[in-house]
Amino acid sequence: MPELPEVEVTRRGLAPCVVGQFIESAAVRDARLRWPVPPDLGDCLAGHRVEALERRAKYLLWRFAHGTLITHLGMSGVWRVWPRARVPEPGRHDHVDLVFSRHLLRLTDPRRFGAVLWHNAADGRVEDHPLLAGLGLEPFDPRFDGDLLHRETRRRAAAIKQVLLAGDIVVGVGNIYASEALFRAGIDPRTPARRISRVRYDRLAGAVRAVLTAAIGVGGSTLRDFVSAAGAEGYFMLDAAVYERASLPCRTCATPIRRIVQGQRATYFCPRCQRR
Ligand SMILES: [Zn+2]
Repeated sequence: MPELPEVEVTRRGLAPCVVGQFIESAAVRDARLRWPVPPDLGDCLAGHRVEALERRAKYLLWRFAHGTLITHLGMSGVWRVWPRARVPEPGRHDHVDLVFSRHLLRLTDPRRFGAVLWHNAADGRVEDHPLLAGLGLEPFDPRFDGDLLHRETRRRAAAIKQVLLAGDIVVGVGNIYASEALFRAGIDPRTPARRISRVRYDRLAGAVRAVLTAAIGVGGSTLRDFVSAAGAEGYFMLDAAVYERASLPCRTCATPIRRIVQGQRATYFCPRCQRR
């Protein structure tokens, strides 16, 4: 499943092809995504210029003067960029095309959990859209730090890993990165969030940023056949310390890595390096 690093890598790959460029046309070939794609997308976008391509959590925000296109990759979505002269025949999972003067961008999404939605500027700020309004801080926002984590968790008895995944304090810490960040911070993923000290949260905030930065640096990591916008294969996070390393020796202390299930998701941790 694409996580924040894949989305950020996609944004960086697409931006040079689209920012400042005019959309000539758009085709909705199959509107059945998580929510129906607006059938009049072509009328809405044709002749308009992409002012900016931003990311909020795992949403891409395509900013136009008259509104914002909100897109999400869901479980299996990929944007691919084709030169206009070499666009292949669309396949059955190719839902949406955005046609620019030199490039065509095609959203492929076999499992159809992705999204392509339009938000009119006349309806207010896109930040207040129901999909975006309840999101936590971006992990790279300077306001995200140990103090914030500590303050926001004083009443939360849930396990810290579940609190990270919930996304209402900080976004983008998906299943892989929660395990990795908790390992780096030396925190047992089962620890009740309200029991963790301010000092340990300082370490955790830094660890979250470090693992996401590393993953973006290698082009995103994923379990699925993610293909980045530039067409290169995505990578597993090759230096994962604990994720999918059940029973293998911890690289720090050689204790076998444990796998448990929390909230129906696998969690990996070192029972010796990570403490409650
Ligand atoms: Zn260890």
